[in-house]
Amino acid sequence: MDSSNKIEQTFDYIIAGAGASGLSLLWNMLHSDVLNSKRILLVDINFKPVNDKTWCFWDDSNIPFEELIYHTWSNLEVSALSERMNEDLKKYKYHCIRSIDYAEKILEMGKASDSVTMLESKIIDFESEGNQGIIITDQGKFKADYIFQSALKPPGLVNEKLDVSLKQHFLGWEIETNKDLFNPGRAIFMDFDIPQTDGVSFFYTLPFTKRKALIEYTLFSDKLLTDEEYELELIKYLQTKYNLKSSDFTVSRREKGNIPMEDRRYPFMYCDHVYNMGTAGGLTKPTTGYTFTRIQRHAKEIVNSLESGSPIPTKRASTYRFRIYDMMLLYILDQQTDVSIQIFHDLFQKNSFDRILQFLEEETNIVQELKIFYTLPYTPFFKSIWKMKHRIFSGA
Ligand SMILES: Cc1cc2nc3c(=O)[nH]c(=O)nc-3n(C[C@H](O)[C@H](O)[C@H](O)COP(=O)(O)OP(=O)(O)OC[C@H]3O[C@@H](n4cnc5c(N)ncnc54)[C@H](O)[C@@H]3O)c2cc1C
Repeated sequence: MDSSNKIEQTFDYIIAGAGASGLSLLWNMLHSDVLNSKRILLVDINFKPVNDKTWCFWDDSNIPFEELIYHTWSNLEVSALSERMNEDLKKYKYHCIRSIDYAEKILEMGKASDSVTMLESKIIDFESEGNQGIIITDQGKFKADYIFQSALKPPGLVNEKLDVSLKQHFLGWEIETNKDLFNPGRAIFMDFDIPQTDGVSFFYTLPFTKRKALIEYTLFSDKLLTDEEYELELIKYLQTKYNLKSSDFTVSRREKGNIPMEDRRYPFMYCDHVYNMGTAGGLTKPTTGYTFTRIQRHAKEIVNSLESGSPIPTKRASTYRFRIYDMMLLYILDQQTDVSIQIFHDLFQKNSFDRILQFLEEETNIVQELKIFYTLPYTPFFKSIWKMKHRIFSGA
């Protein structure tokens, strides 16, 4: 590593991390007539696209790459307390994009652009000097007016108030079966009708064809499982739900994840002139783990600000009202598995799926939210308000 203060090169913008958020920002910059001739440095440890994430989201007009959508479902199913509920979506559709397609497409655009320099290197840290940010990599230091980073946890994170810290952790198999089993028009959003032994647990199934599906065992808890433990549950589920023995299917791919579900605030800045994005920027919705749509919106907002010369937005991904809702539900998810399942059951049984997605996307108004809360058991929420009052009444 170069420990000198020598700056190898100066750029207008540095994008540190070429995952969902870094590549979305690059895509938006390259589509901007104002920004596409700026000198951009894109840094990542590895630029090889991999098929390791299936990003799902419901309709959003901000999604810039519709041609990358791999599959769309117009019907969702939820099972809880032995009741199966499914519904055709009217307002939304549920889409997925594969990380490999996304990376291939946007990295190709980066390679083809004269403005973009791609550096495969380990990012070590960031600092600032005067009006510029500096990225420290194992191939030297580089400077820019603005650095947008999604690679490192911001150092200020440990000082933020934290009451509930769960993880949404999962391991899934993409399987191909020897008989027709799945409905490729219906995604199983959450199947809670499984043993709830290690925290709130459910199966998530994305059927791509009648014989091919991604099936994930997912938990909301603070303790990760071993791969064998997730896989044992997958085997049991395939047996009980689909009557599949190991000889009836092949596993073509594994997908594993661990997404933070926390009530702490994430700092906007890593240091002066270095902005956090993506998961490192606190864009994950704490109660669902959904981040992808928020990443797309954030990238657009950054590009709009750079184009107009206005300050980069530093508003939180969620408003105060939705932060409170998330805190209450996080508290319940952490403390009471049974009650959590009852809440999910009542939520999906008594409200339209479109309205629930709209609520999860934080696009409902207070009247619509009160109507939703009216359908849920009150006592656990009152208890959670009491337990979380020190946060709720101090700005969350
Ligand atoms: C398996 C999985 C499935 C998910 N599915 C969904 C979903 O369906 N819907 C949804 O909304 N959200 C989903 N998420 C959550 C979230 O959308 C993703 O995690 C998303 O990839 C976050 O984007 P990001 O840019 O913050 O991070 P990443 O996409 O992880 O990008 C970070 C980049 O930084 C690079 N990097 C890290 N450290 C260094 C370093 N020291 N030096 C150099 N480079 C480095 C990495 O190589 C990577 O390319 C999922 C997450 C996972 C893990």
